[in-house]
Amino acid sequence: MTGEPSPDRCPTCGSASLTRLPMVLTDGTDVLFVSCQACENRQWLTEHDGGWQALPIDTVLQRATRKTT
Ligand SMILES: [Zn+2]
Repeated sequence: MTGEPSPDRCPTCGSASLTRLPMVLTDGTDVLFVSCQACENRQWLTEHDGGWQALPIDTVLQRATRKTT
């Protein structure tokens, strides 16, 4: 296989019916939005040491919002 491994199972219900959507936050962080079609669990993952680390939604929203100063 090529490319980075990505989760293929929902951590909540174990379903393999996941929607994956690569995104880039405003600070340049590459994230993978994963939405479970079975239980609607949503996660934002970022690559970390060759694996995937879940980002808190608050962090994603902060970085995705362009703050006006
Ligand atoms: Zn699920």
